[in-house]
Amino acid sequence: MIIVLKPGASQEQLDHIVSKVHELGLKTMISQGVERTIIGVIGEEDILRITPLEVFPGVEKVLPVLKPYKLVSREFKPESTVVAVKGVRIGSRSIQIAAGPCAVENREMLFATAKAVKAAGAGMIRGGAFKPRTSPYTFQGLGEEGLKYLREVSDATGMPAVTECMDPRDVALVESYADIIQVGARNMQNITLLRELGQVKKPILLKRGMMSTVKELLMSAEYILSNGNFNVILCERGIRTFEDATRNTLDLSMVPLVKRLSHLPVFVDPSHGTGVRELIEPMSIAAIAAGADGLIIEVHINPEAALSDGAQSLTPDEFARLMKGLAPVAKAVGRELQ
Ligand code: PEP
Ligand code: MN
Repeated sequence: MIIVLKPGASQEQLDHIVSKVHELGLKTMISQGVERTIIGVIGEEDILRITPLEVFPGVEKVLPVLKPYKLVSREFKPESTVVAVKGVRIGSRSIQIAAGPCAVENREMLFATAKAVKAAGAGMIRGGAFKPRTSPYTFQGLGEEGLKYLREVSDATGMPAVTECMDPRDVALVESYADIIQVGARNMQNITLLRELGQVKKPILLKRGMMSTVKELLMSAEYILSNGNFNVILCERGIRTFEDATRNTLDLSMVPLVKRLSHLPVFVDPSHGTGVRELIEPMSIAAIAAGADGLIIEVHINPEAALSDGAQSLTPDEFARLMKGLAPVAKAVGRELQ
């Protein structure tokens, strides 16, 4: 249930309603918009049906939120959320691009790749230190050593670092190095991890599970928001279908859909979404045209030698070409490239 206050409702009126809702044993989350304040009520709301909150001073209307997700919904927060991290504003008019290797393999390759993607116009560096590999016999990532290189390269280039955390026990460690903590597709419904990430201060990039619906993605985001962290970026990275010509089926229709359903920024990962190097550029263009707030793209200084996902990694030259092609598309949809 959400309580919409009248424009100009006072702080005293807000405090009074909030304390009344708390007395009833329910939790509140406040969304302070430009025009209006909205109070989201979480918990067993049935009790509110017999408590006429409409009559409280300052209340304009009380609306049931019929969707199972509440805090992530546009009803709760009509204005789009902008996630700000070290000068990068995700979800604003400017489109943000994170690029870098699938995995941090060593210090030299990370620095070389970071330099190249920055020169091409990327605003953030990506790279996995904990890799959720399908096979236990493949490269699993450098762990904390990889996080250290990421921190170093981020400080040297000024690009915020995005990296994955797979385990609730590693949250504090990853938070101490990363600027944005990624939840990978395989962990989208790791509820313990989501709850833990609700309590950190850093933004979360939440990837859609490969077998998850849009509703399930939004419910996973709701776990993070309802535990206190409103800085969540959603990310489409392809879902598994009967089609096997591509690694996954990139569901770009989810972008405009999720932008309607939720106030959270939406990213697209065309690298895992297609798994095919030649498809990254056209799908990046399509994602921006569809309204994505940004992209996360795998780039490797030498894809042939990559320890993971070489087949979908762009060379620095290919990435630079892609960035050139994106700028006019961003302009055409009323945005700008960072
Ligand atoms: C990644 O971005 O490094 C990754 C493993 O992606 P996903 O979780 O989408 O498979
Ligand atoms: Mn990868």
